[in-house]
Amino acid sequence: MPELPEVESLARFLRQRAAGRVIDRADSAAISVLKTYRPDLTTLRGRVITDTQRHGKFLDLVAVPAAQAGNGSEPGSSEPADGGQPAEGPLHLVIHLARAGWLRWRDNLPEEPPRPGKGPLGFRLRFTDGAGFDLTEAGTKKRLAVYLVADPAEVPGVAALGPDPMADSFTAPALAGMLSGRRTQIKGVLRDQKIIAGIGNAYSDEVLHAARMSPFKLASSFTEDEVGELHAAITRTLREAVERSAGLAAGDLKAEKKSGLRVHGRAGEPCPVCGDTVREVSFADSALQYCPTCQTGGKPLADRRMSRLLR
Ligand SMILES: [Zn+2]
Repeated sequence: MPELPEVESLARFLRQRAAGRVIDRADSAAISVLKTYRPDLTTLRGRVITDTQRHGKFLDLVAVPAAQAGNGSEPGSSEPADGGQPAEGPLHLVIHLARAGWLRWRDNLPEEPPRPGKGPLGFRLRFTDGAGFDLTEAGTKKRLAVYLVADPAEVPGVAALGPDPMADSFTAPALAGMLSGRRTQIKGVLRDQKIIAGIGNAYSDEVLHAARMSPFKLASSFTEDEVGELHAAITRTLREAVERSAGLAAGDLKAEKKSGLRVHGRAGEPCPVCGDTVREVSFADSALQYCPTCQTGGKPLADRRMSRLLR
């Protein structure tokens, strides 16, 4: 699942590849993908991508009418939007890749729109020069989401986002304020997009391993020193992951994410820090991984599902 570092890298990748290109067409290839109705996707035709931003784990491509895009664009290819659609002002194509979604850049897309089907293709954006990208989603649970809005804050998930951990304002005292009084496990707090934006299941495991803390530690129990250690682990882990993937093509990001993880997805493998065996706690819909020696004083955490199975 793409999290902050991968989405940040995709945003940088698209800033280079897509900026200045004129949109030929945008098509949803699966019914559930497009979450907004107005303006419709034909409004994008002839618009120019001027920037790509990231909000938490959301990608945001900014598309303006060709006349407003300045030099380097091809105003000749602009077509009037359908009646009743907002033809002026920037539009934001906001993308949430969810758990199994991915973006695949392609230099030569067919002119015909994709046929809706049962395959992994969920959405396609094609530029007038034939380049563009596909949004694909593996698996049966379809959660890939695309929104076309005048303001990214119209997307409920974006409006609800907590502070971004890459922002200068994300300081140790700010983190202390987010944790204080929360009688919930730190693992869940780190993953909660409303508290901190961009960290998911993988990087919360990595952050807690780097901070040498149990995923079950209560947020409200953190001392000032512990908040400082957690803050350092968050910023270091995310920054290193962004640096590792900087400059990589979209297609190489997935492999890079996997190879950079120390405990997440590595149950049964030796911890790269101490050599202990990485363990796992399973939940109905996910699993977390951790190193007992580094994080829980050598004691394995209770895994309800495991003990139920063993009983
Ligand atoms: Zn370890």
